[in-house]
Amino acid sequence: MRQAVAVYPGSFDPVTYGHLDILSRSLELFDKVIIAVALNIEKTGLFTFEERSDLIRASVNHNDRIIVDSFHGLLVDYVKRVNARFVIRGLRAMSDFEYEFQMASMNRNLDTDMDTIFMMTSKDYFFVSSRTIKEVASFGGNVTEFVPEAVGKALKEKFPQP
Ligand code: ADP
Repeated sequence: MRQAVAVYPGSFDPVTYGHLDILSRSLELFDKVIIAVALNIEKTGLFTFEERSDLIRASVNHNDRIIVDSFHGLLVDYVKRVNARFVIRGLRAMSDFEYEFQMASMNRNLDTDMDTIFMMTSKDYFFVSSRTIKEVASFGGNVTEFVPEAVGKALKEKFPQP
């Protein structure tokens, strides 16, 4: 039987419980979910691409149905290459919508077979983004509620407090 595979792409710089919530809900819909870290040379982040993938791996329980990978170039090409049809994206606020709507429409134009599935954020994580997590952590704020243990530790190493 053909397996239903979805790709969950993003920067994941770093992964948060918001991302993991979308991931676990996706696993209820799909047989396999590929978390695909986007390698964007122009957009350098706090963590290297390798660190981001390692942090994702350290944050998910071993599960054959979750694959951690990375890609560069067009998402539609990657999705085709891995024999998937669906892309998962999370929506937090109206502000996410406009960008996501443009991206999904563009991707659908580039490949009419591909479809994007949007999942609404959970009430506990609607205000959680990698960007705010990094900002709070950089000032020594406590983010343990919002990120897996490995990420909390890695953030402390990036932002040592006196
Ligand atoms: P990008 O840089 O591509 O936006 P991110 O790593 O920030 O990548 O996020 C990847 C996906 O996860 C996006 O669809 C984003 O909207 C979603 N996401 C991030 N944080 C949350 C959250 N707290 N709740 C729901 N979805 C989220």
